[in-house]
Amino acid sequence: MLIFKKTIALMITCAGLMAACQQKNSSKVSDGTDTFEWKVDQFADIKILRYQIPEFEKLSQKQKIFLYYLSEAALSGRDIIWDQNCKYNLLIRHYLENIYRTYKGDRESENFKQFLVYLKRVWFSNGIHHHYATDKIQPGFSQAYFNELIQGSDETKFPVWPGMNPKTTLQLVEKVIFDPNFLSKRVNLDPTKDLVVHSANNFYEGVTQHEAEEFYNRMKDPNDTTPISYGLNSKLVKKNGKITEEVWKSGGMYGKAIDQIIYWLEKAIPYAENEHQQKVIRLLIQYYKTGDLKVWDEYNIAWVEDTHSLIDFVNGFIEVYGDPLGLKASWEALVNFKNLEATRRTEILSANAQWFEDHSPIDSRFKKKNVTGVSAKVINAVQLGGELYPATAIGINLPNADWIRKEHGSKSVTLENITYAYDQVSMRSGLYDEFIENENDLQLIRQYKSLSDNLHTDLHECLGHGSGQLLPGVASDALKNYQSTLEEARADLFALYYMMDKKMVELGILPTLEAAKAEYFYQILNGLMIQLCRIEPGKNLEEAHMRNRQLIARWCYEKGKSDNVIEMYQKNGKTYIRINNYEKLRQLFGQLLAEVQRIKSEGDYNAGKNLVETYGVIVDQKLRDEVATRYQKLNLAPYSGFINPTLTPVEKDGQIVDVKVVYPKDYIQQMLHYSEKYSFLPIEN
Ligand code: ZN
Repeated sequence: MLIFKKTIALMITCAGLMAACQQKNSSKVSDGTDTFEWKVDQFADIKILRYQIPEFEKLSQKQKIFLYYLSEAALSGRDIIWDQNCKYNLLIRHYLENIYRTYKGDRESENFKQFLVYLKRVWFSNGIHHHYATDKIQPGFSQAYFNELIQGSDETKFPVWPGMNPKTTLQLVEKVIFDPNFLSKRVNLDPTKDLVVHSANNFYEGVTQHEAEEFYNRMKDPNDTTPISYGLNSKLVKKNGKITEEVWKSGGMYGKAIDQIIYWLEKAIPYAENEHQQKVIRLLIQYYKTGDLKVWDEYNIAWVEDTHSLIDFVNGFIEVYGDPLGLKASWEALVNFKNLEATRRTEILSANAQWFEDHSPIDSRFKKKNVTGVSAKVINAVQLGGELYPATAIGINLPNADWIRKEHGSKSVTLENITYAYDQVSMRSGLYDEFIENENDLQLIRQYKSLSDNLHTDLHECLGHGSGQLLPGVASDALKNYQSTLEEARADLFALYYMMDKKMVELGILPTLEAAKAEYFYQILNGLMIQLCRIEPGKNLEEAHMRNRQLIARWCYEKGKSDNVIEMYQKNGKTYIRINNYEKLRQLFGQLLAEVQRIKSEGDYNAGKNLVETYGVIVDQKLRDEVATRYQKLNLAPYSGFINPTLTPVEKDGQIVDVKVVYPKDYIQQMLHYSEKYSFLPIEN
């Protein structure tokens, strides 16, 4: 799964809130040390960012070449995700791109600008549906104008749908783009409807939900403890009354793109870091050649056991969120290598897990006698592909098969250079300047927030969730609907409590306790105020992470009132916060941690409910209105995606001797370039 995939948009929202967004005009900001342009475009609800690959230059020639070949494999499957998202996506893309390339009319008009926005949105979503909401994107121009565009373009270069002529193809294209009722949602999750028939994705054809479910239920053996992922890599089609699977493999559906992926993977094999990794790639190739899902499982087991290689990759049909039945996987790719410095951080925390448990401010009955920390791997993305491009997750946890996870474990990674890019953009977004009044606080955030955010995540993931224990006889689901909010609160509080412990400096993972203040300040600011900008007027908080954040901030605010620990004050009609006593705030975090741990350990549902309902749910509507107004003025787009770096081989006498990285700035150029270089599939598959 993409880590917390169900809430990944929310995570990005959270990251978006914490890290949010971008600035209005040019992002070229010189803070004296850094003139890299992180944000290069913005349209509709989307901003386009760039990410850097730190330490790439320090890699060996062999490692760089390995990354280059894996990156080519990651880009070669691009057409697959387009076709999976909707069967007409490739037709539409070729149509729109031909207009963009050859239209001879007025390219400065408002209408043409709207056309360009539509094209950029379609590129961004790998198709005609919004990448997150999955609704069909509505063009900001009329069908009449679209006809003008067609007539002003090179008509010989428009594709023709198999079995149709140019005229009927154009009619189809117009229906796909302009008819709001045709293919209106990519993934329909409305339980009152036939989910298969009413979803516009290309995973099923001619079958109903019932037929699809029957088809796969018949295959399943309830006694099989190591089941394959039925239906994962095929389209289910009914032809002449007969239902069959069209398998995505070499020689099968998507075979032309898969052959290209195989070509680059084969080139990569000699450059792999060790024999085990070579075996991993060979298994993947074998799977792509046969479509055999047993081989897919073998590959996943080998892949998850490869924990020592510096370089790693994801390439395949992985996540099933694009299918309302959760069977068919979208194609995705990610090439990456370990961020050694950041991974060292998580290893130190894990190695000291028992110390943290022993010194935790909770009742000793709730402490684990033997605690093991999770050593999360921190990586830098080198190339994003398929479903992960241009919009990407910030964390990934694979493989997905439950029995493999149980027997062989899973790999959990966070994409440090991606979150770093988000941070850099938010730093320049105007968000902090709007909500932080005091210059010293602003300085604190600018200097330390990126670092302290990462450390907070590490503490939360590596130690927080794994700490503490239930009393004997307490059920793990005793807190029911308050479970996730309280669990997130527990992990967050554990992290916050230890952030400002001198042990962090002793361990060498925090330069100074000042850095922790940045996290304290921002957590309170976000929990009390900033996150409210996402809430509709009149609504309360529902999502677990958001409830958790407000719970912590509100509770500390109320409990610290007598000592004036946290102050909310007005200036020029705006609300701001100030933290007067960081040490006291830390004690409050510790007190709340002790109480939340007690609630969990004892399974005290009523106390848990009371805590969440009192502090974590109710929105101060007046404050919400103020925050929303201030936020909207910043013109921050809620969704982000990335332009990939380009890896270019340097050749000498026909041999690759080096690989250079450049960071392109032009979103349109990258999309056109990809369409030119990696268009391996016909418009109909
Ligand atoms: Zn968590």
